[in-house]
Amino acid sequence: MKPPPFAYHRPVSLDEALALLARYGSDGRILAGGQSLVPALNMRLAAPAALIDINRLPGLDAIRLAPEGLVIGALARHADVEASPLVLHHARPIALAMPHVGHRAIRTRGTIGGSAALADPAAELPACLLALDARIRVAGPGSQREIPANRFFQGIYTTDLGHGEMVTAVVVPPGQDSWTSRFVELARRHGDYALVGLAAHGHVENGIAREMRLAFCGVGTTPVRATRAEAKLRGCALGPGVRAEAVGALEADLDPPGDVHASSALRRHLARVLLGRVLASMA
Ligand SMILES: Cc1cc2nc3c(=O)[nH]c(=O)nc-3n(C[C@H](O)[C@H](O)[C@H](O)COP(=O)(O)OP(=O)(O)OC[C@H]3O[C@@H](n4cnc5c(N)ncnc54)[C@H](O)[C@@H]3O)c2cc1C
Repeated sequence: MKPPPFAYHRPVSLDEALALLARYGSDGRILAGGQSLVPALNMRLAAPAALIDINRLPGLDAIRLAPEGLVIGALARHADVEASPLVLHHARPIALAMPHVGHRAIRTRGTIGGSAALADPAAELPACLLALDARIRVAGPGSQREIPANRFFQGIYTTDLGHGEMVTAVVVPPGQDSWTSRFVELARRHGDYALVGLAAHGHVENGIAREMRLAFCGVGTTPVRATRAEAKLRGCALGPGVRAEAVGALEADLDPPGDVHASSALRRHLARVLLGRVLASMA
């Protein structure tokens, strides 16, 4: 199938893009990497009156260190994020997750801002943003704000983005460089969305978990922090007993939906398996 007709705009400045968003309201859609939007158009699951192509916005793809942390521009392609030494050093869960995101061709075009804005609950990067306590920087008519990842993702394909707002960057707070990170997932085939995935990011010192963040994807309508399991680990040596307690706590943390890909019980089981493996590898 072909997409329904739409107007096409290619702004060359952020102000111009925001003016177009304001002009079209909910009838306008931003086009970034197009890896999710274009198939949706072709299948006529989306029929916006206008596409606002942000690929020519200058500097929106930059990855840079700033006083407030690592700033990854919304238009940074997955492949560039994957290859970035800055990301590896300052936002390791993202670097570890990237090889799981689709295939290389998709990562060559897909963007971190697009992945955040799409808010697919099975996607890897939103879970990483949660594990990193990252903030989503958005620009709107005459203003800019930052939304913590745990408030940004609100439901299936639903975010806190307001009318006329767009994602301009994600910001990873500093001070996590020496933390231990893992990203693991179980998918039917490599490159598929995860049945269940886990971004684990913790400050482990001499075997003691000073801080631990466990963010799952594929287990709810948003990425989910397993806060009870985290609490079992905080301040403890990662021995077998503590690890088993944390895995047990997932029962209360997660209430995954069942669907055609996996039942709720299977997703719960996979989450326990992943957490057990990750904690054993961190001990
Ligand atoms: C075959 C295939 C397999 C894939 N597998 C995976 C996978 O395993 N894991 C995974 O996470 N992803 C996967 N993807 C999706 C891929 O990661 C996309 O990059 C991502 O979903 C969207 O990024 P994009 O830049 O392509 O956004 P687009 O497709 O351009 O846009 C997606 C949505 O976000 C909006 N949007 C884009 N940028 C912004 C912005 N800056 N501000 C506000 N709104 C914005 C658009 O309007 C649109 O609604 C797969 C895609 C394909 C085609």
